[in-house]
Amino acid sequence: MAKEKKVYTTGFGAPIDNDQNSKTAGNPGPILLQDTHLLEKIGHFDRERIPERVVHAKGAGAYGTFEVTADATRYTKAKFLSQIGRKTDVFVRFSTVGGEKGSADAERDPRGFAIKFYTEEGNYDMTGNNTPVFFIRDPLKFPDFIHTQKRHPGTNLKDANMFWDFLSLTPESIHQVTILFSDRGTPRTYRHMNGYSSHTFKWYNEQGEYFWVKYHFKTEQGIRNLTRDEATEMKGVDPDHATRDLHDAIERGEYPSWRLEMQIMTPEEADKYRFDPFDITKVWFHNDVKPFTIGRLVLNRNPKNYFAEVEQAAFSPANFIPGIAASPDKLLQGRLFSYHDTHLHRLGSNYHLLPVNRPKNTTVNYYQRDSNMMYGENSGDGPNYFPNSFGGPEPEEGTGEPPFEVSGKADRQPYTHPNDDFFQAGEMYRRVMTEKDREHLVSNITTHLRDAIKRIQLRQAAIFFKADPDYGTRVARDLKLDVKEVKRLAKMTQEDRAKATAK
Ligand code: NDP
Repeated sequence: MAKEKKVYTTGFGAPIDNDQNSKTAGNPGPILLQDTHLLEKIGHFDRERIPERVVHAKGAGAYGTFEVTADATRYTKAKFLSQIGRKTDVFVRFSTVGGEKGSADAERDPRGFAIKFYTEEGNYDMTGNNTPVFFIRDPLKFPDFIHTQKRHPGTNLKDANMFWDFLSLTPESIHQVTILFSDRGTPRTYRHMNGYSSHTFKWYNEQGEYFWVKYHFKTEQGIRNLTRDEATEMKGVDPDHATRDLHDAIERGEYPSWRLEMQIMTPEEADKYRFDPFDITKVWFHNDVKPFTIGRLVLNRNPKNYFAEVEQAAFSPANFIPGIAASPDKLLQGRLFSYHDTHLHRLGSNYHLLPVNRPKNTTVNYYQRDSNMMYGENSGDGPNYFPNSFGGPEPEEGTGEPPFEVSGKADRQPYTHPNDDFFQAGEMYRRVMTEKDREHLVSNITTHLRDAIKRIQLRQAAIFFKADPDYGTRVARDLKLDVKEVKRLAKMTQEDRAKATAK
């Protein structure tokens, strides 16, 4: 059957008679200012780009469902987790972190793994990564860290000196650096990687008891990575390979899935834990806190329009629902502010009304009004102040987080838990990696670190040495550094090492 003809219109719905020839005075021209179709078309084109995300600019997304497979009501009263078999609509966006919007999917970089759960109690966002830890643990360092992953202010080139100077002066980064330079730093596709909350969050139940939790979304496709050479080739052959893979797999009906495993600690267990449970540069060892499966995530529908649904998707770790709350993890506390703030800048103050962002399974009732791009009903003629006696929405007691104790001095305080920054990276190197993994790790590192100046190479090699002497020695040898000098630097305090390698 022939499709009904659609008339091409202006943005205001008026029919367009001709879209091939501008309206001119005579032939060939000049063009008349009264060609309002041309003016509207070019004017809109000039404004097509919105600011790209400062981080996580290159991404791909898909819709799906999350299904509960085990009872979690002992730990949380979140309704979407309240019953085995219960399904919740989700939208997931995967991304690289440092590259621009047109950069290659195969870059060595952590991958974003952000999930929006459209629950009946409002949207809940889990803005995770494919790594269980992060480079830094205080948000004050975040802008500096990201600057070092981007382009040099003078040359506009990626710069190995910036990259390694910062990391070697920030030894808490060693755990994440070790994961990043393993082959997991170049996942084969978005389907073949895990997603982690990385942060610790709080869950609380109907009785007001609370627990500290970590989320692990484990890929059911199996972990698969690109080697460095494969990633280098892929960047040239198909810079969009992971975006394409996700889209094509879903179109073929091969729906990617992940098992949600939780690690959960009581507050008493957390108090006694050998590592700081809120330090995002650390994991909770599986043997200490056994993960258990509570659900399954499946992606089964591609977006229809990339810009509307993926580019305009906006996630925030501050989007909590009853039963889930923040922990004192300082990096999380910084992100609670930063995500919403950056969306206000990137998309405008009504970004939550965009179809991909607005709650689908509950209604929004509030007293916020107006601002730019208010394209909904703006709450009609209802009261725009609270309290009121005209039937406006009212707070619901008991939906908030139970009160919790805080104490201590207000000050700029470092993490003081008695553990070091090197042990877990060392455990990864010694206990988790195979010899082949270690070979790849060392050569992935030295291929990159080779481009930094020698004093920075020495300082960073000492950090690897502190994680594990064999690790540091192999990096040093590969870079033809003096191993004795690296060992000497590794024995120094961080302050002395920084001084010794300042020039
Ligand atoms: P286990 O020894 O019980 O398991 C090792 C973990 O490491 C598995 O989860 C595995 O993921 C993951 N892994 C394997 N290779 C890599 C890699 N190249 N990059 C990142 N993760 C990798 O873990 P433990 O709890 O005893 O911790 C030991 C070390 O394992 C930690 O210091 C940490 O570096 C790493 N790790 C720990 C995690 C945790 O939450 N405890 C999570 C991820 C890593 P998979 O099973 O999916 O293959």
